[in-house]
Amino acid sequence: MTIALTQDLSPTLVLNADYRPLSYYPLSLWSWQDAIKAVFLDRVTILAEYDRAVRSPTYSMRLPSVVCLKTYVKPARHPAFTRFNVFLRDRFQCQYCGSPHDLTFDHVIPRSRGGLTTWENVVAACSPCNLKKGGMMPKVAGMIPHQMPFQPTVHELHNNGRLFPPNFLHESWLDYLYWDSELEPE
Ligand SMILES: [Zn+2]
Repeated sequence: MTIALTQDLSPTLVLNADYRPLSYYPLSLWSWQDAIKAVFLDRVTILAEYDRAVRSPTYSMRLPSVVCLKTYVKPARHPAFTRFNVFLRDRFQCQYCGSPHDLTFDHVIPRSRGGLTTWENVVAACSPCNLKKGGMMPKVAGMIPHQMPFQPTVHELHNNGRLFPPNFLHESWLDYLYWDSELEPE
């Protein structure tokens, strides 16, 4: 099949068989090419489409904007230890002064004192605070993180993520991203 396409990226939101996103962080998105491949392999159901279409001489198909897996995949309980997820856990704020600017990472127990690069020892910190604390222990520096670092659950990141939605959200995704938000107890 020859496909002629003149459009920009049209990512497809991928839902698990329970109609929730396969993952939130990062948001489970496929290229439209992968989504169409999965449609032909009968692995997904199309729930919503873009107005844009791909055409071959014998065939035309609108690009899927939301698909859902036919087979349920057990989601990971713990999100990946990534830069983005650490910032998200800490709500993109320096854990010492609260600044949202110039964010870096600080080892609460400095690496020079054997501190590890783990969820439990890394916090978001602005450059000035990071520099000020240097290789000192928190008490010596008089700098205790507002929130002691911890390994978050997907649910905790999801709650924080509502404050920082992704840059691109197609309107057809919104029902699936936030439909459950009011039912969850705080
Ligand atoms: Zn700071």
